[in-house]
This record gives sequence, structure tokens and C-alpha cells, in this order.
Amino acid sequence: MKPETQAIHAGYEIDPSTGALAQAIHLSTTFERDPNGEYERGYQYIRNGNPNRLELEERLATLEGGAACAMFASGSAAMLMLLQALKTGDHLIAPADMYFGIQVILREILAPWGLETTFVDMAADLSAVKAAVKDNTRMIITETPSNPMMKLTDIEAVGEIAHEIGAIYVVDNTIATSLFQSPFDLGADIVVHSTTKFISGHSDVLGGALIAKEETDFFEKIFRIQEIGGAVPDPHSCWLTLRGIMTMPVRVRAMHEYSCQVAQFLGEHPQIERVLHPALESHPQHDLFKKQMRGATGLFSFMVKGDAARAMAFTNHLNIIQRVTSFGGVRSKIEHRASIEEGTSTPDNLLRISIGLEHPDDLIADIDQALAQVK
Ligand SMILES: *Cc1c(COP(=O)(O)O)cnc(C)c1O
Repeated sequence: MKPETQAIHAGYEIDPSTGALAQAIHLSTTFERDPNGEYERGYQYIRNGNPNRLELEERLATLEGGAACAMFASGSAAMLMLLQALKTGDHLIAPADMYFGIQVILREILAPWGLETTFVDMAADLSAVKAAVKDNTRMIITETPSNPMMKLTDIEAVGEIAHEIGAIYVVDNTIATSLFQSPFDLGADIVVHSTTKFISGHSDVLGGALIAKEETDFFEKIFRIQEIGGAVPDPHSCWLTLRGIMTMPVRVRAMHEYSCQVAQFLGEHPQIERVLHPALESHPQHDLFKKQMRGATGLFSFMVKGDAARAMAFTNHLNIIQRVTSFGGVRSKIEHRASIEEGTSTPDNLLRISIGLEHPDDLIADIDQALAQVK
């Protein structure tokens, strides 16, 4: 099946007891034991599994082309649980411009526990990854495209380094989505998603997923941490995420198309210094984009000529595009990243934009009138 069909049908069946087309939300925390003492209907306690979460896990594993999926209450929880499956004394290599919250987890929570991380700029320099390898390197993490600089990392090349040393290779596929990037085909062992973004797609539900290419002992450990640790999403969140997934391929395809139009407009505008959009030929790694991505979704960045105040003033004049953090929802969003990233190297005049599903002509008109007001 193609992704559009999988997004609607994988793991789905009509409710056998009622014939209902839409799934029920099973809020029950506990399930009946059979007279023989077993749980033959498959459910015992909500933390171990419930119908809504299992359907979601099957859907996500199928879309990503993986063998198994474990859902968590957020993308950050998914990463924390993944890292907790490592041992004290292990070493991992992560991107220097990795999602900020995960950097905080590594620096403030896991470093004092004895998990050591080397942050390297993998997009710029593969030899830096090789140079960071130690005897105890157990995991290499990649996040591509990066946020907000939209740098691309060669997934396959980093994977070769990981496999040479027998390390687990993890790719955060949140920004590209399974529609546009297939890390398992390029050597990844585990794929991470914050389902809060493009997958759920309506800015109304938090979630995170770990997906395994194969059911390994390491992934068994993750299931154990999921079940016993309990950082799991509730059934209602799973239901909302499943509802969002059904339109994910169509939404993401449209966002890609609209974002290309908006990026092109910005690229030709005299008040814009630079546009960072991987699908544009002006992107310094456009060749790598063509090699490993099938589209660029709706997230990109651009720099307004002038300083931070000028960039912020521009956002204050927008009427349709909203000044909020996060990305991936149906409403277009814009954010001045440098002012929310502590100790950042992000340029002061950079804005990150997440194109939603409004008509691109309206988005372009909104940007045009706002730029006119900061002349
Ligand atoms: C948002 C995000 C996360 C964290 O996910 P939450 O669901 O917000 O906890 C991790 N990685 C990337 C790339 C993200 O964009």
C-alpha cells in the first residue's frame, strides 16, 4: 500500500462489536481477566497497552516501514526513554544543532548520570563524526533537516560510520516526515518522531514515537521502559493523533508545494537577505536534498535585512501567519528563534516559518503587506 492508504488503513478495523466506522476512545484503565486467568483479548492495564495506543503504534510503524513502534507522551519523553535504555559509562554522538530540549536532557539530566555526549556539526563535516568515536560509543543520533538553519546531514554516510563501530543509529525524522524521508532505507536502526508536529498536524495534541527497523533486544528494553516507566500517551491523545495521521500525507504534500511558493517569493524580495529552504536550488545542500528527500514539508527559515528589531517588527504586522512556537499544524506560524534559544548562534535576523494550509496567495499577500510596513 502507498502512504496515503496506509495513513488511513494500517492497524484499522471497523469496531467488531458495533460496526462503528470511527473508533471508540477506550478510556478504561483496566480490562477483564478471562475465567482461565489469561487476558486473551490482549489488554490488561492501560499502561501496558490499550486499543487506541496499539492502533497508533501499528499505523506509525507501517508508515515508517519499521517492525515495531513504542508511543510516548511527547517527543521529548520518547528521546529520554531511548537514552535511558543506554548504560552509565556509554558514549553517544549527537548533532551540535540538535533540537534544543534534547540537548538540555543530555547536558543537564543524563550527563550527571554518567552518559557522555559529544556534539558535532555532522552536516558540515563527516570526519568530525569519525573523530568523535570512542571505544564506548554506543549510539549516533542524526536530525535532518536541522532546526532552524535547515542544514542537511547525509543519513547514509553517518549510518556507515555507526555500523562500522557497531553503534545504534538513530534518526529524528520529525521535520522531514515518513512521506519525504525514509531513514530505514539509508541505514537507520531507530527513527524518532515528535508526533506533536506534522503527524498529528492540528497543534492540539502532544506525542512522541520510537520506531525500530527490526525487533532487537535493545528495542525490547525500550518496550520494557515504556510499560514499566509509564511515560505513555492517554487514549484520547492517541485517538486525536490517529485522526490527524489520516490526512498527513495530503497535508504535508500541500505544505511542501505552498512553502516552495512562499520561499520563492521571499527569495526575490529586496528586503530579504537569505532564504534557507532545502527544495530551492539556492540551498547549499540542494544536491543532498535530491538524494535523500522527496519533499521539504512546510518548515523553512529566512533572514530579513536588518537587525532583530526589524525582523520582529515584520512579524508584528502579519495578520494570517501567527507568532507562535512549534510547527507542522494547519495554521501558518512564524518565530524569531534567537530570542527563545539560550546561548544561541542563530542569526539575530532569522525567522522560522511553518507554512500551514492557508492558500499560498494569501500567505504571500500577508508577508508582502507586513514587509511594506517595516520599510
Ligand atoms: C518538537 C521536537 C521534539 C520534541 O518533541 P515534543 O513533542 O515537543 O516533546 C524533538 N525533536 C524534534 C526535531 C522536534 O521538532
